[in-house]
Amino acid sequence: MSGFLDPKFQTLEAYTPGEQPRDMQYIKLNTNESPYPPAPRVVQALTREQGQLLRLYPDPTGQALKERLARLYGVAAENVFLGNGSDEILNFAFLAYGAKGVVFPDISYGFYQVYADLYGLERESIPLKEDFSLDCRDYCGKGKLVVIANPNAPTGMAVSPEQIRQILLSNPDAVVLIDEAYVDFGGETCLPLIREYPNLLVVRTFSKSRCLAGGRLGYAFAQPELIRDLEKLKYSTNPYNINRLTLALGQATVDADEYYRDICEKIVESRRWTAGQLEALGFQVLPSQANFLFARSQAVDGEALYQQLKKRGILVRHFTAPRICQYNRITIGTQAQMEAFLDAVKEILTGGAL
Ligand SMILES: *Cc1c(COP(=O)(O)O)cnc(C)c1O
Repeated sequence: MSGFLDPKFQTLEAYTPGEQPRDMQYIKLNTNESPYPPAPRVVQALTREQGQLLRLYPDPTGQALKERLARLYGVAAENVFLGNGSDEILNFAFLAYGAKGVVFPDISYGFYQVYADLYGLERESIPLKEDFSLDCRDYCGKGKLVVIANPNAPTGMAVSPEQIRQILLSNPDAVVLIDEAYVDFGGETCLPLIREYPNLLVVRTFSKSRCLAGGRLGYAFAQPELIRDLEKLKYSTNPYNINRLTLALGQATVDADEYYRDICEKIVESRRWTAGQLEALGFQVLPSQANFLFARSQAVDGEALYQQLKKRGILVRHFTAPRICQYNRITIGTQAQMEAFLDAVKEILTGGAL
């Protein structure tokens, strides 16, 4: 760190992304990317013509993509915001709505804490229940920004739109941000509630179910007033936040919706199979509605399992927070990858590694 950095950032603990190692080819089950490629028409959208058009700035409004998303989800284009990844949308939302403080679960997406600290927001962390379920009553009447990932990460567990309605109703003077990064894998969306609640912001991403983590594209739904707030911050930060290629890829992705539905079904099927196999090996597996499983075994330490898998060329995500350090988060890959993962787990368990 230089002596020039603003002292208020000197103690800031930045977000640590999952490993993206380059030393060898791993079976990568650690950052919840899709194991499947984008739809063929998405790759075909990367044309020579698109390349030549890179000399021009992209459309700062992203109108064509907003209209496609609006049509797909039965809302209006003015209900849609676009971000450079949903992380950027979270960034704007914390900046816009966090002044009275922010509340989120103790076990959730690690970036929430970082944004709160970046902006010096007062943050409250509410413990999930013993079984990692979320009790919506804990978030009622808070009067400050409420942030909930639904389904949650890294647990994969979901709450119902009716529970979210209770949170919205009891916090009329605060924004409730529901991060639906994983909703396409079986959770129930609260998107229809934006019609009734001017304080609801639903945030989504193309990174997980839309096989586009490298494109950096997120989107959000809310009533037009909230969308205009976010636009104001975007135009005060980086008007061309989504590059020209990613806008084109995003449009082609929405047009290929059928393809992505099929992929999600495959992942849900592999998740069901993998969970069954892990349980048969004595693992405790949380009920996941996401493209990953969160699991622990009494027979092997969480960190040791992570290390042993890595030695065998398989990356999963291990967290060191005391409450979850015995668990690993395992992204659902292809069926073949999950079979390789389970073979490695069996080998580790029988090898008596720790
Ligand atoms: C992956 C993830 C994001 C960030 O996604 P990007 O769109 O790639 O920035 C946001 N929230 C949760 C809960 C996630 O797991």
